Amino acid sequence: MNVTRWKAGAVFFPWAHVQRAIDGVDSTVYRAAVRYAQDQFQSQARPCPQCGRSAIDLSWFSVTDPEPAWDQGTGRVGFLTFCERCRLQVDFLVDPELTELQTAQWRTDRTLA
Ligand SMILES: [Zn+2]
Repeated sequence: MNVTRWKAGAVFFPWAHVQRAIDGVDSTVYRAAVRYAQDQFQSQARPCPQCGRSAIDLSWFSVTDPEPAWDQGTGRVGFLTFCERCRLQVDFLVDPELTELQTAQWRTDRTLA
């Protein structure tokens, strides 16, 4: 999937940043990670506000804030949902546990998982 030419709809992250998350997907764990995210966040994940596509039918990717946010102490790890049809980011669902783990990792060795 290539989202780098998408213009509008970048509600939470620039599409170029989303593309890095897409490119970084490890296909062996991706399905399990998305299933986990959908189980955990399904009740709060919204459908596409434009076409009404249900949350479960949107694209789900794990997205981590870029480095400067971690230096500022505002970094988040979560799951971005977006509608491929409308090219619109719908939700960014912050995962508190993954964010805590990444905060600790950033503190010790300044790397992103
Ligand atoms: Zn849509």
